[in-house]
Amino acid sequence: MRSFKLVFHPERCKGCELCRNACPKDVIGMAKEVNLKGYHPACAVNESACIGCASCATMCPDGAIEIYLKEEGDQ
Ligand code: SF4
Ligand code: SF4
Repeated sequence: MRSFKLVFHPERCKGCELCRNACPKDVIGMAKEVNLKGYHPACAVNESACIGCASCATMCPDGAIEIYLKEEGDQ
């Protein structure tokens, strides 16, 4: 089964939660820490559930999320 890695860019994030709401698998949460802009940035809280649909990255207005296919699960 394929698995995916999520890379967040927390300093680009404005904490709008669009990505969190777009995710069908509840993979995304908001960090307790704040970034330099004072927002709680998005982060992965359940990465193993990610199906790689890219809805989160597509939804993000700030290009703060990247999704990669993990090589070890590529079969
Ligand atoms: S790629 Fe899809 S399943 Fe994975 S975190 Fe983004 S919206 Fe959720
Ligand atoms: S959609 Fe982008 S800017 Fe909004 S919370 Fe998610 S990562 Fe941050």
